[in-house]
Amino acid sequence: MPFLLDRSELRDLAAKLDSGARLDEADALRLFETRDLNALAALADRANQQRNGLRASYIVNRYINYSNYCILSCQFCSFSRKKRDADGFELSIDQMVSKAREALALGITELHIVGGLHPSLPFSHYVGFLRALKALDPRLQLKCFTAIEILHLAWLARKSVRDTLIELREAGLESLTGGGAEIFRKDVRSRIAKGKESGAEYLDVHRTWHQLGGRSTCTMLYGHIESLADRVDHLRQLRELQDETRGFTGFIPLPFQPENNDIPVRTPPTGFDMLRTIAVSRLYLDNFDHITAYWVGMGLKMAQIALSHGADDIHGTIIEEHIFHMAGAKSPQMTTEKELIKAIREAGRTPVQRNTFYQPVRILDEPTAAATVASLEAGGDASSHRVEDTVSAGG
Ligand code: SF4
Repeated sequence: MPFLLDRSELRDLAAKLDSGARLDEADALRLFETRDLNALAALADRANQQRNGLRASYIVNRYINYSNYCILSCQFCSFSRKKRDADGFELSIDQMVSKAREALALGITELHIVGGLHPSLPFSHYVGFLRALKALDPRLQLKCFTAIEILHLAWLARKSVRDTLIELREAGLESLTGGGAEIFRKDVRSRIAKGKESGAEYLDVHRTWHQLGGRSTCTMLYGHIESLADRVDHLRQLRELQDETRGFTGFIPLPFQPENNDIPVRTPPTGFDMLRTIAVSRLYLDNFDHITAYWVGMGLKMAQIALSHGADDIHGTIIEEHIFHMAGAKSPQMTTEKELIKAIREAGRTPVQRNTFYQPVRILDEPTAAATVASLEAGGDASSHRVEDTVSAGG
C-alpha cells in the first residue's frame, strides 16, 4: 500500500482494491467526497500504472464542426444557433474536404466530426461527406457524430438506428464520438438538456454500435448543477454497459464551461474537482482501459497534472475547436504535437501517439525521469530535440 495511504481515511478502500474487489457506488461517492487528494491520486495512479504502465498517449487529429445550426436548444449549450442568427454556419462538403486536406498535410490520423441537429440537410449529405473524406486517404479514421446526431440521422433516413449505423459505416464511419452523454439522471438532464435523448437512448445507440462490432468513447459533463451522487450514477451506467459490450475504448470527463448558456452556474470546475473526477473515474471504471484528460476543457497544464491522477491520455492536436470555446474555455484552439509530447515527458511518462482506438501509432523514446529533471533544471527543453528527431524518423 502506498505510504500516503497508511493513515488516510481511504485506507480501507485501498485494501479493498488490493483484494481485487470492485468498488461500489458508495465507495465511489466516498472517493468523490474525500479532501485527501494526494491519497486519492496515489490510488488512481497505481490503478492506471497497473493497466498502462508509464505510457501516456495523445492523438494527432483535427476537429470539424460541419454546422452549428440545431433544432434543439439544450440549456447548457453555447454552440448551437438558429438560422436567423448571424453567427450560424454550415460547411459544404468541399469546405470540409479542404480543411481535411490541409490537416492531412500536418499528419493527422483522425477527423473528429460533430455538429448540431441541422434543420434541413438530408441524410445523403452526411453519407456524402463521409465518402468524400474517406476518399482523401483510406487510412484517415473518421470519428463522427454523437448519439443524438445518430438518432437524428436515423429519423432523416427513416431507418432503424442499427441500419443507419450500418449505412454510415459503409460510407466510412469508424467510431462514434462520446459527446452528448451530459448527466444521465432524468431530473438533471431535463434542466440542462431538455429535449435531448434520454440517458437510456444514449446508451442504446452505443450498445447498438458495439453490437455491430464498432467502438466508441463516452463522456460525462460535470461541474454544473449535478450532485456527486449524480456523477456516480452516471459512471455506474457507463460501467454496466461496458460490462455488457466492452465497446468503449476510453472515458472522457468534460468540465462544464459556464459562458453564453442558460445554466445558472458562473464558474467552471476547480482544479481540485477536475483532478478528483479523473481519479474517481480511473478507480471506479475498472473495465475501461483509458481515461482521457481533455486538455481543451481542463487546460493543458491541468491535463498534464492529471497524468499522475489516473489519466493516461491527453487527447489531441484538434486544430479548430468551437464547442468549448464558445462556452468560454480559456485554452487555445489547438495545440501542437510537440507541446503534447513535452507535457507528457515532463510528467515522467512515455509519450505514445495513438490512433482513434487508443492503439499505438508510435512509441517515443523513454527518457529516464532523472534525465528529464536534470534537463529541466538546466533550463533546457527536455523534449524538443528528441521530439523532432523522432518525428523526422517517422512512424
Ligand atoms: S448540445 Fe447538441 S443537440 Fe443540444 S443544442 Fe447544442 S448542438 Fe443541439
